[in-house]
Amino acid sequence: MKFLEGLNQKQKEAVEYIDGALLLLAGAGSGKTKTLISRLAYLIGVVGIDPSSILCLTFTNKASAEMRERAMGLLKEEEIEIDTFPLLCTFHKFGLLFLKRYISYLGREGNFVLIDSDDCKKIIKSLDREIAPSSLLGAISYYKNSLLSPQDALQKAEGGEEKIIEIYERYQSYLEKNNLVDFDDLLYLTHLILQKNPQLAQKQSKKYAYIMVDEYQDTNPLQYRILKMLTCSHQNLCVVGDDDQSIYGWRGADIRNILEFTQDFPNAKMIKLEQNYRSTPEILKISNTLISKNSQRLGKVLEPMLKSGKEVEVNSYENDRVEIESICKKISSLHKNGAKFSDIAILYRLNGIAKNVEDGLLRSKIPYKMIGVLRFYERSEVKDVISYLRLMVNIRDDFSLLRVINRPKRGFGKASEEKMLACAGERRIYDFFSNKDECITCLGKKNYQTLEEFFATISQLRIALEESFEKFEDVFTQKIDILSVYPQNEREERSSNLKELFSSLKTELGSQKSLEEYLNELSLSSDSDQEVGDSVSCMSIHLSKGLEFDYVFVVGCEHGFFPLLGESGDMEEERRLGYVAFTRAKRELYLSYAKTRFYRGKPSNLPPSKFLYESGLLQEPQEDLPVTSETMSVGAMVKHKIFGIGRVLEVNGKGKDMKVRVNFGGNERVILSSFLELI
Ligand code: ATP
Ligand code: MG
Repeated sequence: MKFLEGLNQKQKEAVEYIDGALLLLAGAGSGKTKTLISRLAYLIGVVGIDPSSILCLTFTNKASAEMRERAMGLLKEEEIEIDTFPLLCTFHKFGLLFLKRYISYLGREGNFVLIDSDDCKKIIKSLDREIAPSSLLGAISYYKNSLLSPQDALQKAEGGEEKIIEIYERYQSYLEKNNLVDFDDLLYLTHLILQKNPQLAQKQSKKYAYIMVDEYQDTNPLQYRILKMLTCSHQNLCVVGDDDQSIYGWRGADIRNILEFTQDFPNAKMIKLEQNYRSTPEILKISNTLISKNSQRLGKVLEPMLKSGKEVEVNSYENDRVEIESICKKISSLHKNGAKFSDIAILYRLNGIAKNVEDGLLRSKIPYKMIGVLRFYERSEVKDVISYLRLMVNIRDDFSLLRVINRPKRGFGKASEEKMLACAGERRIYDFFSNKDECITCLGKKNYQTLEEFFATISQLRIALEESFEKFEDVFTQKIDILSVYPQNEREERSSNLKELFSSLKTELGSQKSLEEYLNELSLSSDSDQEVGDSVSCMSIHLSKGLEFDYVFVVGCEHGFFPLLGESGDMEEERRLGYVAFTRAKRELYLSYAKTRFYRGKPSNLPPSKFLYESGLLQEPQEDLPVTSETMSVGAMVKHKIFGIGRVLEVNGKGKDMKVRVNFGGNERVILSSFLELI
């Protein structure tokens, strides 16, 4: 049978175990995701489960799209046709779909708007000017993820928190009043509704009789609670994950979810996979060595299944510019020898390093995509247009109205805006405006007319879109000159972004999606979802989870940047990030560090990452080695005519007999010092 073909014994067992809770616990590249995909196809194609009663939760939109494609591919090969589909999505998307249907349980309307972090910041700023918005948002997010309403939080407050909780309360009522939903609300409100309505929870649980979760190690307590509700009528929950790859602790993910799974779901079965099909033994060896330095782990063995390949390379460079230039040369040569750009990834621990990577790739004219740097829809001009679209869906969306009422300029400045808000009080602007006399008394005739024209434009846009997309685009361009608010030199780029937005809107609306659906999905999407031809992928290690590439370059392996030593640095989590980064590589892995790196405009000189030593790639410099009178000491950078640049690991002897052990990019050599030049 196709669905089981190419799986090993343990993987097959996991696919066929369908009644009751199942934990598939295994290291990187052992086929957890592959097993889930086969299991999905098996449930539908062999067991005959109605696809619509399957819910499969993944960590990114891209992962769910891939899973859908691959599972459907398997079914197709077996010539199995289905007319309903399983629900494959992220937890947040699930929350969104759930709230669209059931937010009425909280007395709210289903046409709410999902706002992004930038919007949240704006709201917070309008509520308080003293505390940094990011700290406030962090606190609010913490409360929501701990299932605490403002009232609950107040009861538990330990002193000093009252002001923050009071802002949390005002923030939440602002969202409610304007029918807005933030990212955390997607889970927080979903949980609230399920918890307060046991019958609905039962109904949902029966609807999703088979639930699967990938990357379970990075679920947070709120997601866990939702899963608990969804499995209140059955135990058919299959989760897969790896405790060594839990890298979202800083965002509230709780590794205990996976460690305690078999206690949370009594009678749960646990299957461990112990073969790695992704990476060469060389890559696997250093990854395993590194992660073995962690103390809080279940401990797993991973046996390589691939043939031996190239040694992992460690390269040291004078500075970050030289680093990326050398990587670009290597990429070009890989490409010349047949590798596709899309088989190559450049990973970094810190997004601040991305700019140097991007500049280098640009200079070398290598096609690339930067994943997760600035999301397309976060660009200002794109958000302007989106605000108009949102108003078309919901004329009472004051949040969007306030963004664009004076974009383009309509002579409706800050003072008028404040007056209007004060007069409107609890009412939405549109309702206030509908009281013509009151509105004129408050704002004056001219401002009233501005509002009148504004609402008329929105309604014209709506009517135009009903007619055709072309008509809508015409009216929009004619009536709303968004670009006029931006300086001349920015208009070209912004205009091309708008073209891209309109073209994607056209395609999406053409595929039977409503404008409202489009807007909601837009807020959940990210750059990583967009496919761009054959190009090198550049992303943070966090975003690389679950992915694999033939060739991986990890840049910025300096101690301080990676591991990132900050205030809240958790060395074990940093090490897990190292493990995730290394195990993305299938064939070749290149790690590099620079003597000088420009970070936030300043040069920093950091030593090589501790992880390079811990993984056995570099040898720990021993403090008590004899250091010569010359500066050719342990740690110094040297240059050799043939071997290039390296770092001194050991110095023995004196004068012209002095021998030096040097690491030249992962290759160690003992060389007479007279052949070396200090740099
Ligand atoms: P990660 O922990 O990084 O998410 P994973 O455990 O989910 O990894 P997969 O991505 O499912 O691993 O698989 C890794 C690679 O190994 C894939 O290329 C997959 O096709 C391959 N693979 C998995 N199982 C087998 C198998 N039984 N035979 C051959 N190849 C396999
Ligand atoms: Mg996976």
